[in-house]
Amino acid sequence: MQHRIIVLGAGYTGAIVAGRLAKRLRREDVAITLVNAEPDFVERVRMHQLAAGQDLTPRPFSEMFAGTGVELRLAKVTGVDVGRKTVAVIDANGAEELAYDTLVYALGSGWNAQDVSGTAEHAYEIASRPGALRLRERLARLDAGQTVVVVGGGLTGLEAATEIAEARPDLDVALAAHGGLGDWLSPKGREHLRKVFGKLGITVHEHAAVTGVEADRVATADGKAIPAAVTVWTTGFAVHPIAKATALEVTGTGQIVVDGTMRSVSHPDVYAVGDAAMAMGPGDKPLRMSCASGTPAAWQAADAIAARLTGGKLPNVPIRYFNQCISLGRKEGLIQYVTADDRAVQAVLTGRLAAVYKELVCKGAAWGVANPMLGLPTRRRRVTRERATAGSAVKAPA
Ligand SMILES: Cc1cc2nc3c(=O)[nH]c(=O)nc-3n(C[C@H](O)[C@H](O)[C@H](O)COP(=O)(O)OP(=O)(O)OC[C@H]3O[C@@H](n4cnc5c(N)ncnc54)[C@H](O)[C@@H]3O)c2cc1C
Repeated sequence: MQHRIIVLGAGYTGAIVAGRLAKRLRREDVAITLVNAEPDFVERVRMHQLAAGQDLTPRPFSEMFAGTGVELRLAKVTGVDVGRKTVAVIDANGAEELAYDTLVYALGSGWNAQDVSGTAEHAYEIASRPGALRLRERLARLDAGQTVVVVGGGLTGLEAATEIAEARPDLDVALAAHGGLGDWLSPKGREHLRKVFGKLGITVHEHAAVTGVEADRVATADGKAIPAAVTVWTTGFAVHPIAKATALEVTGTGQIVVDGTMRSVSHPDVYAVGDAAMAMGPGDKPLRMSCASGTPAAWQAADAIAARLTGGKLPNVPIRYFNQCISLGRKEGLIQYVTADDRAVQAVLTGRLAAVYKELVCKGAAWGVANPMLGLPTRRRRVTRERATAGSAVKAPA
């Protein structure tokens, strides 16, 4: 009897977990199934580039996982029943239920409209590929001089505004930020950001809480209206509602609460990684939705599952932040170095070197996903029936 591991979602984290498990466990002992709605890997960290008109390298899963032993299942996940240990999926052939022994939930997130009026009707999003492609098509139809307002002064908003302004210098690009521009960055980081925004001619509306979106403008809490032929909404991410509809312990926003090994605190057969999980990081702060923390969390989950199934030592992959890598168009960037718990320190890297650094980080992240079996050689370990059934009793290190 093989131990059935189902990984839901083949984004940055799910794909890493599936590949790493295939590398660590004997093929005859496990059946690893990776379920994803789309047939190719989506580099979400490049969605602003896609929206601005750049073409991304196609990365079909059928090539990435060929010969790994991971079975790909192209289907949309519609529900999880943690009592019966089944996943409901649907594809062109209809609905089906898949049974698991261990489940890894990695369905990521989408945009977060935050219930602001008019967002669903009028705003564009770049948290997903369909959203980015829709914006790309709309931007291509804009005439010179028309306005694009990016709402959200976080990392995604900064990257989107600069990418669009660089690609379309004929447009009038603005950013509406809740606080000051890059106010969490170091003084040098903030200064560099202002310089680049100035060079690209981006208008910055600081301390602007957007309260409504209309077809041709956004309204702010202080009663102002900012003209916007196109509004791009980037105020954080929201998880898909599937986990919230289960008996799993989730946060108010629907993230699955996990321990230090990324295992559900309520259901020991379930692990969650990436944007879908609520895990505590350094400084007892929740890890933020990012590849930066999602990648080591995925390593931790895979290694913990493998250890529990084979009787190995539970891993303790350090999850900490090193820097925030912000692209500011293709020619400029800002690498803000941070403490382990993500607070800016003095040191920054700026300019073209920072742009190259960020590009290498994105390439490295995609390479890691696309080459699941490469890296340091590892011994595939035997799964024992006792371990497979007793695994759920092995406690995480305190
Ligand atoms: C424009 C942009 C720029 C970003 N830049 C950075 C950055 O510079 N650094 C950084 O660390 N982070 C960045 N992020 C955040 C980062 O992309 C996410 O945190 C990361 O992708 C989360 O990984 P994940 O595996 O949890 O989810 P995802 O990468 O979103 O993967 C989820 C997968 O699940 C699939 N899926 C979803 N629902 C279903 C379903 N119902 N059925 C089947 N399959 C489903 C999706 O198709 C996808 O393949 C950026 C995000 C955006 C949008």
